[in-house]
Amino acid sequence: MPGFELFGDKERKEVTDVLSTGVLMRYGFDGARNGHYKALEFEQTLCGITGSAFSHLCSSGTAALSTAMAACGIGAGDEVIVPPFTFVATFEAVLQAGAVPVFGEIDDTLCLNPDRLEAVLTPKTKAVIPVHMCGAMARIDEIKHFCDRNGLMLLEDACQSLGATFQGNHLGRFGKAGCFSFDAVKTVTCGEGGAVITDDQTVYDICHQYADHGHDHLGGPDRGADDHPILGINYRISELNAAVGLAQLKKLDQIVTIQRKNKQALKDAMTKLPGISFRHLPDPSGDSATFLSFMLPTGEKARQAAKALAENQVPCPYWYDNNWHYFRKWDHLKNMISASPMPAQLCRNLPDYSKIHLPESDAVMKRTLSMQIMLSWTDQDLEQRVAAIEKALTNI
Ligand SMILES: *Cc1c(COP(=O)(O)O)cnc(C)c1O
Repeated sequence: MPGFELFGDKERKEVTDVLSTGVLMRYGFDGARNGHYKALEFEQTLCGITGSAFSHLCSSGTAALSTAMAACGIGAGDEVIVPPFTFVATFEAVLQAGAVPVFGEIDDTLCLNPDRLEAVLTPKTKAVIPVHMCGAMARIDEIKHFCDRNGLMLLEDACQSLGATFQGNHLGRFGKAGCFSFDAVKTVTCGEGGAVITDDQTVYDICHQYADHGHDHLGGPDRGADDHPILGINYRISELNAAVGLAQLKKLDQIVTIQRKNKQALKDAMTKLPGISFRHLPDPSGDSATFLSFMLPTGEKARQAAKALAENQVPCPYWYDNNWHYFRKWDHLKNMISASPMPAQLCRNLPDYSKIHLPESDAVMKRTLSMQIMLSWTDQDLEQRVAAIEKALTNI
């Protein structure tokens, strides 16, 4: 996942362009900026990569999710189906919109199971936000089919899956809008940043307006002459962050190529180990390969494996026990009323999350470990890693 590993002269050059003009804002200052529009160039580059008609860069992936939801008209009283395996930002953004996160079950894709969406569908369901976790795809065609059949909005959280595709199409392009994150640990980093992509002109227009206090950006060189057709907020990215991201984005192909090679080497070796199975990838050729996720036969064995791998210097997140990525440990959500400064009004409309049980997701997550794929590994590092993995897992 980490673009920060390939950080150097190109990033410095883009940032120096901005620093040499002193124009740190993406809008205005046309005379002073010496032709540098890093945020705009980032957006054009992202459209070129994904094939999307429009993109809008925001201050974070969370801000991108909030912006996309605003643009898609998701708000107070709406229910939004999300997975219980994600980063907390997904449900945070739903809550910020005044909507209700409803957790569907995941399957061995580690993403929402399209066959279990019906079970949580209600007359209030407005949208589904599948999360393409750990660099690879949900069963997005089936999820899209479910949304189409039920008149629901599809919005993809592809924050962890820039560069991944399903049947040749980039993740983030299957619904009304898709969101990416460029925070410090993502495949491409701006330091902080995120983007919405969409093919819908109206959605795009609301995105760039909403993320900039409602500015319509039609006033010409004088920002003060812009009109404000909608209420908005400030989710703007700075030119400095955009500049870093622009250099990074141009390395995406290189990053994904290295990840795929390194992941394949580990997977080939681990395939030979008894009792290990792998995350189901609906289209293996589209995996961006940021993680190698694998399953042990039981939860007990998975915990033992996590311990043995850590002792052998190959730590692998065991998400079932992780505070940030899996529902089981989201006590702050389950104790929402006491733990949140959100208006009590909003909290009152929410279900009691401490009473929600997700047995199918638990069964998958209990058995799953993931290994992050690094860009800097040498052939020798890979060989040592394989040896350490074999040693750690042989007696499990
Ligand atoms: C990182 C991430 C986000 C949020 O991104 P930020 O840029 O850190 O706000 C949202 N969803 C998922 C799945 C993520 O991994």
